[in-house]
Amino acid sequence: MARIVMKFGGTSVADLSRIRHAARHVEREIKAGHQVAVVVSAMAGATNQLVEWCAEASPLHDAREYDAVVSTGEQVTAGLMAIVLQSMGITARSFSGWQVPIKTSDVHGAARITDIDATELNKRLDDGQVCVVTGFQGISPANRITTLGRGGSDTSAVAVAAAISADRCEIYTDVDGVYTTDPRIAPKAQRMVRVSFEEMLEMASLGAKVLQTRSVELAMAKHVRLAVRSSFDDPDAPQMAPDGSDTGVPGTLVCDEDEIMEEQIVSGVTLAKAEAKITLRGVKDHPGVAAAVFGALAAEHIVVDMIVQNVSDDGKVTDITFTLPDKEYDKAVKALENAGDGLEYSRIVGAKGGAKISVVGVGMRSHAGVASSMFKALADKGINIQLITTSEIKTSVLIDEEYAELAVRALHTYYGLDRQDA
Ligand code: ADP
Ligand code: ASP
Ligand code: MG
Repeated sequence: MARIVMKFGGTSVADLSRIRHAARHVEREIKAGHQVAVVVSAMAGATNQLVEWCAEASPLHDAREYDAVVSTGEQVTAGLMAIVLQSMGITARSFSGWQVPIKTSDVHGAARITDIDATELNKRLDDGQVCVVTGFQGISPANRITTLGRGGSDTSAVAVAAAISADRCEIYTDVDGVYTTDPRIAPKAQRMVRVSFEEMLEMASLGAKVLQTRSVELAMAKHVRLAVRSSFDDPDAPQMAPDGSDTGVPGTLVCDEDEIMEEQIVSGVTLAKAEAKITLRGVKDHPGVAAAVFGALAAEHIVVDMIVQNVSDDGKVTDITFTLPDKEYDKAVKALENAGDGLEYSRIVGAKGGAKISVVGVGMRSHAGVASSMFKALADKGINIQLITTSEIKTSVLIDEEYAELAVRALHTYYGLDRQDA
């Protein structure tokens, strides 16, 4: 007997027929004698609609009320999933975040889970009941509903898995695993049978939205066995890994590096669009300037990404360039214009509409030349690189959004990741 958390994303619960199909995956595990906690997202598109209504009601809406509104999508699907399971003869009960309770910080719209009291869930699971928990939401110290940030149901699922000491956490979605790049962009992308936590963490944070970054972080920290698989599969098909190995799931297992036999130099290519770039020209070259620039942005909760600063020629002035999401661009420019003391520069220039392309692989730790070959592959396609950043296991470049898909496909081919039969 195992304990399993099964999370179903938006497209997997998009309507009643999809919920019924998802419920058959749950039924399979129950029939096999396992204990199951289900975590659900809102129906596909529901959260977007709720977000839009808040913005229409007032562009500067209260974050607490935003959470009160956008958390409701998950409550609908949790209830419907419990009803469907009951109609199949399976004992099931739904739980909202506050009923578990899933305790979080009070950062509305981007709360972090601080604690889950699993007493009630454990009791019911031991009694053979399926607990259906709303993803994406929790409760703040002030007893207000919070949400965890877009895509947050993945994190709810991993947190529940850790709290109930589940044997594994399965993320059911509309693709049958984690691919070498987004299969919607590169049809030749290959499914990975296993991917290391570290690579998955980089891929998620660099744009592969198949898992929310925080969920991977949490799974790594709490040693949760995490798998990505398709809810669209036949629930009664054999539960075999694609290569016949014993991962236990037909999709992708996210696991420790030492469980992976063959390390690739580059394992995946990711894309993040809508990246803006801002350059401060003629910044005074003395201590404290960078702190003043990024302090002014941090005060507005603006998260910046790639940062480049050069040594000045004359020791007097230099340029600082950084990237941030397009939607934060106007706010950032305003924050810099209003920053006042300690921030001396001659002018601000910038543009929206960039794309960040990254290549990721643990093998990069021990192989030189990945960055240079990446630049060459892009140059061969006539793609200009605007900014570059690297870490131990990834190299990222900022390019014009127009060339984003071309760049992803070119790099995917260049690093030998294309499926041979495609
Ligand atoms: P859900 O609603 O189930 O949470 P998401 O839309 O959040 O699903 O994530 C699944 C999507 O992630 C896929 O449809 C796919 O287009 C996208 N994706 C991006 N990069 C990858 C990747 N490397 N592997 C698999 N899917 C990816
Ligand atoms: N429903 C939420 C969203 O669309 C959470 C999730 O699906 O993970 O962001
Ligand atoms: Mg998602």
